[in-house]
Amino acid sequence: MLRKIIEDEIRAHGPIRLDRYMEICLSHPEYGYYTSQQPFGRKGDFITAPEISQMFGELVGLWLIHMWQAQGAPERFALVELGPGRGTLMADILRVAAVMPAFLRAARVFLFESSPRLRVEQKERLGKFDIAHIDGLDDMPDMPLYLVANEFFDALPIRQFVKNDFGWQERLVAEGLAFSLGKTRDMPDLDRRFRGIETGRIVETRKEAEAMSAVITKKITTRGGAAIIIDYGDYDGVGDTFQAVKQHKMVDPFAGPGKADLTAHVRFGELVQNGVEPGFATQGEFLTRMGIDERRKVLEKASGKPLGLEQARLIGDDEMGNAFKVLAMWGKPMQHVPGFL
Ligand code: SAH
Repeated sequence: MLRKIIEDEIRAHGPIRLDRYMEICLSHPEYGYYTSQQPFGRKGDFITAPEISQMFGELVGLWLIHMWQAQGAPERFALVELGPGRGTLMADILRVAAVMPAFLRAARVFLFESSPRLRVEQKERLGKFDIAHIDGLDDMPDMPLYLVANEFFDALPIRQFVKNDFGWQERLVAEGLAFSLGKTRDMPDLDRRFRGIETGRIVETRKEAEAMSAVITKKITTRGGAAIIIDYGDYDGVGDTFQAVKQHKMVDPFAGPGKADLTAHVRFGELVQNGVEPGFATQGEFLTRMGIDERRKVLEKASGKPLGLEQARLIGDDEMGNAFKVLAMWGKPMQHVPGFL
């Protein structure tokens, strides 16, 4: 169904940009991946860190609480999550926040979610809390912002470019759903962004992510707050990272539009804009410094269940520990920020 919609658009207007292809596949109101499929869990297509163990969300929650307290415990603030999935991460954050009732009292929770189906699931999951869904970051009341996003930015559409003897060209999706090269009118400032890149190398840009980061940056530098963004990728990687995952396996991104999850690595460096103080660590480093080992022992004692495997999945070098990175941003210089030395 979606294949026909896309092919029709290409026939009518010519090859489409990769960000357009991703947008249709992921967010088409009827047949898009997040609108129509069941992405999460063992039976779904992928398992995210908060779905592996509550330890992840609890330590992220403790980080947010620490930042709030260290920044003078503002009486009212927006606690925002981008792309909350099943609502597990926010549920874990709010549960651990019971140790700091003043934080809970001061928080107004906002969820940014495009899928109507997931909005319903999140509402049910977080039923006992007063939460609101927002359609954009500009929808929020003007107050300090504490924001979290796990595996959200990788889902935002990218464009791909390649530099060859003719200069920069864009990788477009052509008839039959295959890549072709073309020139487009509004080329971003690629020479400046990718100075010294070798000929033939593919690079990626993600305009929507930069725009969102600009809004976050403005808010935390003027009103206060902090952001923590977890995803796979690197600070300034290059190369083709466009991928499709279905039932825990890599598949051809053009094989079943809307049926597989489409993502690309996050280039964290482009989210860091003028004015913020950044912290950057691997997920393994961050969770270890936040005390995952102690947390695991407490939970094991309370439940009688071993949690070593879950911990290893979250921080192991060959599992999520290295491939996933944590970017934190705050507005004013601070002496010490946990998790980032
Ligand atoms: N954070 C969750 C889910 C990650 S999956 C977890 O860690 O388990 C990506 C999430 O982002 C989903 O909830 C998806 O519906 C949402 N999402 C993807 N693209 C979006 C967009 N453009 N706008 C708003 N939400 C989006």
